[in-house]
Amino acid sequence: MMPSKPKTVDTTKDTRTVLYAARDYLSSKAEAELKLRIPFDVYFQDPALRTLRRTFDFDETFDVPWEPGIGDGPTSARFAVVDYDASAETLTPPAKWDARDNFFRDPEGVLLDKGNLASPQYRQVNVWATLQNALDFYENGFGLGRRIPFGFEGNRLIVVPNAGYGENAYYDRHSKSLQFYYFDRGKKRVYTCLSADIINHEFGHAVLDGLRPLLADSISAETAAFHEFLGDLSAILIAFRNNKLRKWLAAETGGDLSADSALSNLAEEFGEAVEGQPYLRSALNKLRYSAIKNDQRQHYMSQVLTGAMFDIVQKLSAQYMKRGRTLGEAFWHTIRRMQCMAIQPLDLLPPVDVTFEDYALAVLRNEEIVNPTDPDGYRQMMIDVFVDREILSSETGRKLQEPHDVFPRLRTPVYHAAADIAGSHAAAYRFLDDNRSALFIPYGADVAVQDLSTAVKLTTDARRQPRQVLLQYTWREDVLLEGKRFGQFAGETTSMLCGGTLALDIDGNLLSWMRKPGSQPLMGTGDDDEAEARMGARRKEAFLVALAARIKAGRIGEIAGGELGILEKTVAPLTASKVDGILRFSLSPHVGIHSDEHDEMGESQWQISS
Ligand SMILES: [Zn+2]
Repeated sequence: MMPSKPKTVDTTKDTRTVLYAARDYLSSKAEAELKLRIPFDVYFQDPALRTLRRTFDFDETFDVPWEPGIGDGPTSARFAVVDYDASAETLTPPAKWDARDNFFRDPEGVLLDKGNLASPQYRQVNVWATLQNALDFYENGFGLGRRIPFGFEGNRLIVVPNAGYGENAYYDRHSKSLQFYYFDRGKKRVYTCLSADIINHEFGHAVLDGLRPLLADSISAETAAFHEFLGDLSAILIAFRNNKLRKWLAAETGGDLSADSALSNLAEEFGEAVEGQPYLRSALNKLRYSAIKNDQRQHYMSQVLTGAMFDIVQKLSAQYMKRGRTLGEAFWHTIRRMQCMAIQPLDLLPPVDVTFEDYALAVLRNEEIVNPTDPDGYRQMMIDVFVDREILSSETGRKLQEPHDVFPRLRTPVYHAAADIAGSHAAAYRFLDDNRSALFIPYGADVAVQDLSTAVKLTTDARRQPRQVLLQYTWREDVLLEGKRFGQFAGETTSMLCGGTLALDIDGNLLSWMRKPGSQPLMGTGDDDEAEARMGARRKEAFLVALAARIKAGRIGEIAGGELGILEKTVAPLTASKVDGILRFSLSPHVGIHSDEHDEMGESQWQISS
């Protein structure tokens, strides 16, 4: 189960290009042998772990998928590394791509690997290789099974490995970039671009912003916390996918993941330097939803969901071991299953205002799609975890276990074949409009197709699932802010985002339908319509309460005016601006690795509960 470095066949670039076209049918071992994967000695987690354990310093078995367009920088289809340091005002020359040998070299032609650590180009390649690997984690069939878009115009995320002096790292949609800062502790310089956890956390933000760009327009602190959760979950699962880390964990923990480990601890070097503890955050916590639901601090809140998913990691690996797997095998099966369990459901989430409950329901539904008979009781185990964490109510937990049709048909009066819906935004819109009544879309709603894509996902044992058609649709409902509780915004009109995500398989079976209704009158008058209207009314009330809480906490600033790319420590988490006279709120464009809340809230740095 633990592959060592494979022998390679010396292919030419032309041959590699031909083989690349057929890569979906090759095993990763064959890919490595044919040089369709690029080996690179990345730091194993971060330089702090290297000091701790010399044997676990670099990951020599690490490699990233090859692609035809790799160039200097590094630059690839989805990333462009630009090494501009805004503090020092220096542009460092890029790593050079050696297309014949499949290596990066420094400007003097020296090979970039762990023998050349002092080279600034090593850091450029380290961050790029880590990102290529993270992208593959999301896009391959055990993940979303499709190419993913970014949340901005353009296809390349700009990566700035040494953006300037500071204790943070950011994903920034406006400058289309990931920015990694560095800082000094005593004689040591800490580079955030060398921490796999920090890179993967920030990339998690970029991925989610691409999949659900309207989450940035949510006023809900819980939705902001969901963003942080996905960052931390990315870091944990991508680390766990690493062969060498699993080997280390097996040796360190003897299979018991309930103690502090390199898996549960996030951003070790950064945490040590900035927070004075052996990690920035830990996935080991006992927090329940009731402890965080009225909070406003998104990093703190996110830990409930991270903790729940880590409970599932622990229970899965324990179950695999009980069934006689070796520790190495148990961990390998756990990560394979976790990737399907945790990443695939992202495609089912509603387009707006995602809550922890939404994610739990999407996870459970995806598990049912992939594993309908569930002989090992994984679904029940997960329901218990979510109920215990109070992410799901016990009533919801009970209802989920009632017998039901696993693959229902979507009942719409005007039939559109799934393949036709998938054809274009215009076709998908006609499907929505023709079936407004059945889809609970108000007559007056200016409904729009937010995103349309298809995906081929795999099951945990690598079988292809039927092609999925994923349709996100949204509309805005005007809401008047009446009363003192809205402070400086009283009397203004804002809009509440509404909509849904429909997932069909190519044969028209309904895989999932998650909705965020509004309060405008519906066209139908049946029981279902009434239930939907009640849900919409509750949602509007919750929207107003959440907005008032944000305003009361002083957590809304005017639109951030700072220059893009400059480290802003005191940006409010939510900003307000006007579009056509209607007030719009958005999350701060900088989404960072740790919170700056103490700067404006006057509170001390948040603590980790363990
Ligand atoms: Zn973050």
